[in-house]
Order: sequence, then C-alpha cells, then structure tokens
Amino acid sequence: MHLNLERLLAIRHRYLPLLNRMETLFNEMNRAYEAVAVQYGFVCNGCADNCCLTRFYHHTLLEYLYLVEGMCTLEPGIRQSINKQALTVSTGMADADRRGEALRIMCPLNRNERCILYPYRPMICRLHGIPHELQRPGGNLIKNPGCNAFFDQCRERGKTDYIRFDRTPFYRQMATLEQELRRETGYSDKIRLTIAHMLVTITDNAYEIN
Ligand code: SF4
Repeated sequence: MHLNLERLLAIRHRYLPLLNRMETLFNEMNRAYEAVAVQYGFVCNGCADNCCLTRFYHHTLLEYLYLVEGMCTLEPGIRQSINKQALTVSTGMADADRRGEALRIMCPLNRNERCILYPYRPMICRLHGIPHELQRPGGNLIKNPGCNAFFDQCRERGKTDYIRFDRTPFYRQMATLEQELRRETGYSDKIRLTIAHMLVTITDNAYEIN
C-alpha cells in the first residue's frame, strides 16, 4: 500500500485538529481502561507473552499520522535506529509469511521493554489486556477474555468475574473521526499496517514539519 506522506504533510494544518480530538479520545480510553483494571487489581508489568511481540494491524490514517507526529519528537539518531529496526522487522515478517510460518517479533518501538512512543501508541496498544466486549456493526456481540497475563494475575486473586468493558463507543468515535479525516484529506485507500510497516513509509521530509 502506498501512502503519499508528502501530500498529506502539505495539508497538515487541516488534520492537526482531528489528531487533537483523537488525543482526547485516547485519554478517555486510558481512563476507562484504568478504571476497570484497578477493579480487577490488574497491572501490566510486562510478561513472556508480551503483546508488543504480537503482529497487530492498524487501520486508520489517524493513527498513522499520529505516529508520524511522535517520530518527529525523537532525536535523529534514535529515529534512524528505529527505522533500521522497522525495516528488519518488516522484512522478517515478509520472509516468515513466504515460508508460511507464524512469527512473533518485537515491535520496533519497544526499547528495553518500554514503548519509546508510549503517548503516541495506537488504539489497540491502549485497550489490549483486560476482558472486553465489542458490538460489531450489524453483527454479534463479541466477548474476549483478556490476555494470558491478565488471566494468570487475576486468577491468583480470585478476581476473574467479568467487569464490563465495552470497546464499542471508542471504536465508533474512532470511525467517525477517521471518516472526517478521509474527507479532509481525500485519502480513500484501505489501511492494514503494522507499526513496522508504518515506520518504513515515514520519509525524512516528515521530520522537517515542525
Ligand atoms: S507501539 Fe508501543 S505499545 Fe504498541 S506494540 Fe509497539 S512498542 Fe508495544
């Protein structure tokens, strides 16, 4: 998939207000997640099953442009090293796909077990972990039991009874913002990218935007 970043950067002033609104939404997600996690007594302290090893796909231009903004806050040397790692990761994924193998490989933004762009991480990185429900548009209600670390921690405390955490309103608000952004930018292609794939498309010109 080709993202014409240069063209998008030229109209940055038009999409920044939408990124600000997404940031507000992300803060709401963080608060809602934390409120439920506290009730379970669940704390993500890293684990062998590290979700940063999972190949998550992201589907919005909003999250892509927010990641570009995040990359611009880093020192040039760190950016170069992240870009190099992103290329290694995306090549590793493509090779594994050709061999028909499943590959768990660390996200290039994870450094020393920490997300180097934590404030700019996409939606799924914020919501992963605790059990949740999601009403698919025109479809069934999907329930998910949460990650293995959640289950292990909370089973020990006997706190596995479901506490309602509904992702639906967050997904809907993201979809509304994304539609506005698509209208604003004229960008209509479908997006299905990992963080590594996003990072390898970010050109040097992006770092001169501030
Ligand atoms: S963006 Fe950050 S939180 Fe998300 S997978 Fe990568 S390192 Fe982990």
